[in-house]
Amino acid sequence: MPTTTTRPLPPQLLAAVRKHWGFTSLRPLQEQAIRAAMAGRDSLVVMPTGGGKSLCYQAPAVVRDGLTVVVSPLIALMKDQVDGLTRIGVPAVRLDSTLTPNERTTTAERIRRGEVRLVFTSPERLVNTDVYQLLRDAGAHTVAVDEAHCVSHWGHDFRPEYRQLARLRDFFPKASVHGYTATATDRVRQDIAQQLGLNSPDILVGSFDRPNLIYRVLPRLDLMAQVRAVLDRHPGDAGIIYCLRRKDVDDMTAALKAVGYRAVPYHAGMTPDARRQTQEAFAAEEADLVVATVAFGMGIDRSNVRYVIHAAMPKTIEHYQQETGRGGRDGLPSECVLLYSGSDFLTLKAIIEKSAEEAQAPPEFTAASVKHLEEMARYCRGAACRHKSLVQYFGQPYEVENCAACDVCLGDTQEVPDAMTIAKKILSCVARVKEGFGTAHVIDVLRGAKSESIRSRGHDELTTYGLLKEVPKTDLRDWIYQLIGQGVLVQAGDEYPILKLNAASWAVMAGKHTVRLIQLARSEKRSKNAAPSQPVSLPVGADAALFELLRTLRRQQASQAGVKPEQVFSDTVLAEMARGRPTTVDALRRISGVGDYRLQSFGAAFLEAIAFHCRRTGLATDVPAPRTVAAPRAASSGPPSAKKTQAFRLFRAGESVAEVVKQTGLTAATINGYLADFVTAEKPASIFNWVPEDVCERVAAAADIHGTALLKPVFLELNEEVSYDHIRVVFAFLATRE
Ligand code: ADP
Repeated sequence: MPTTTTRPLPPQLLAAVRKHWGFTSLRPLQEQAIRAAMAGRDSLVVMPTGGGKSLCYQAPAVVRDGLTVVVSPLIALMKDQVDGLTRIGVPAVRLDSTLTPNERTTTAERIRRGEVRLVFTSPERLVNTDVYQLLRDAGAHTVAVDEAHCVSHWGHDFRPEYRQLARLRDFFPKASVHGYTATATDRVRQDIAQQLGLNSPDILVGSFDRPNLIYRVLPRLDLMAQVRAVLDRHPGDAGIIYCLRRKDVDDMTAALKAVGYRAVPYHAGMTPDARRQTQEAFAAEEADLVVATVAFGMGIDRSNVRYVIHAAMPKTIEHYQQETGRGGRDGLPSECVLLYSGSDFLTLKAIIEKSAEEAQAPPEFTAASVKHLEEMARYCRGAACRHKSLVQYFGQPYEVENCAACDVCLGDTQEVPDAMTIAKKILSCVARVKEGFGTAHVIDVLRGAKSESIRSRGHDELTTYGLLKEVPKTDLRDWIYQLIGQGVLVQAGDEYPILKLNAASWAVMAGKHTVRLIQLARSEKRSKNAAPSQPVSLPVGADAALFELLRTLRRQQASQAGVKPEQVFSDTVLAEMARGRPTTVDALRRISGVGDYRLQSFGAAFLEAIAFHCRRTGLATDVPAPRTVAAPRAASSGPPSAKKTQAFRLFRAGESVAEVVKQTGLTAATINGYLADFVTAEKPASIFNWVPEDVCERVAAAADIHGTALLKPVFLELNEEVSYDHIRVVFAFLATRE
């Protein structure tokens, strides 16, 4: 489909982004989305949470004459956006049911006089004749539908009132229409385009990877102790704990409060007032953590959520992605810890069946939901990189070999030494029971269970009976799921899935295809050199004490100005202040996220605090930024992780891979990956520090024959004598010479 991406952006747009938001550049997908909006071309923009969707419709609105109408599902969301925009000097108003008649009249007059650029409203309001006529007559050229997945009943958050937006075209025949969502599935996307009547839209889809989220999955052994272990790593940080049931929320909140944590509850059974109180306390930083059911989601306006804990398995991978996605929207590292138990599956299945029965849902619905549960359980027990599993689940490729941001890649898990033998035993057991039974039965046979169901079928006579007697049930289940995940075992059938073999299973049994199995961690390992006092999210060189001081100052300033702390400066800005320790207005202005308006209101107070702290502690001021590093994964959001920045610094100093491994505590595979990225980004004059000269020459010669599109032909050409890591680094180097 043709796109609008070729037209250059007008210079005043970037100037406006700089002035109002203080951002020094646009992210690649933002740029494309903004082009579509500027050109008046319908678009559907799919970006993960934290990708920066709002700027895509707000920035064009500022530089264009006329009005942009923003449809938003929640009053709280609208209020935040309007307050935030007003703070940074953008004329925005909202038309919602909470306005008094007087306010409504004043707002309408401002709109009529052409004084505002953005009007936020709800779908219910927008279909009101008075409202859409007012907006149309005032020159609405763009309608931006935020959280556009709410229009689709395939989405996880369907809102019937969004359906009325199908009439948008009639109300605003001349305006372009744009949908914005973080929902990844293709079906929902197509539905949105259809429901909103988008006219050959630009469909812009970002990468679904969230490299700054650190995923961990742990069996739930002692819930409170495990939860507290995470909280204690994040003193004073914001976090969310998701529980399955309302009662779990209440119990957990009470237990945490009793031991001194600033926790507040949130679930659909609370009164609207009580829920509002929770949201406000969280936003104002009066509470650090919200214990919630899935009902807590949209409208969370803290971008500095540093951890998301799931006290039980979510219902679907989509839910998991959405809920963990609420962490680290500011791009700084955030931890996502999922605590699961085999019983979660049964509890959730019972919940699904009960609600399906109450709603008289068709049986396919229940079957599909159970399938989603299975997928989620497989993710929990899987042996593959979590980033990779999630991104691939959403149908996108993931090329990074070691993400360095999940339990599997960080080495929290342990490789099972005799994986092949175990895999063969499991697979031959599936063959022996004639591919006619589910996981539970196969496990029972392998463990030599003495049940009636086994005896009556004569399965205690099989050669595989009791072959893995010594292995705990939960490990066996993990491994079966891991084999499914690696495509050498198949689970078929919806309601009572049975295990089946495929060609790859036979290849494994014949020893022609290898698999790996891992022992999932029972507790997370702490990285060796992460000092507990250093918040995990701070960049290299940032002073933790100064960061804390600035956070306190932010709270004071926010409460004096009657705004939310987030609207003073984001955590990213504070972290950069704690690193660079600027002493002049100009240096402060150079920080991304410090626009003119915030600088005027708050700049002086922050400069004073920085100077005071540095005088007292003798810390250096005005520390220049490390050379900027081109993001190796083009579409990824957020800055590189602190570890990566550290690795790049060491490479710059010419340190060897072994030394960088030692200093960062990461694996050699990760560091080699970083080295290739480093070479691409910084184009060093030579790579002989890391790859011997003769090896470079051999790889270059082989690349002349086979090209650099694939590693393997070169690997084979060199008789498998040069490692893939070296080949990759040389390829990166060759690319910089082209
Ligand atoms: P989404 O709605 O997609 O979740 P937001 O619009 O809330 O994302 O933006 C996420 C974060 O990214 C915010 O903290 C915002 O300030 C920041 N951000 C957005 N665009 C940029 C940019 N071009 N440069 C730097 N930071 C940005």
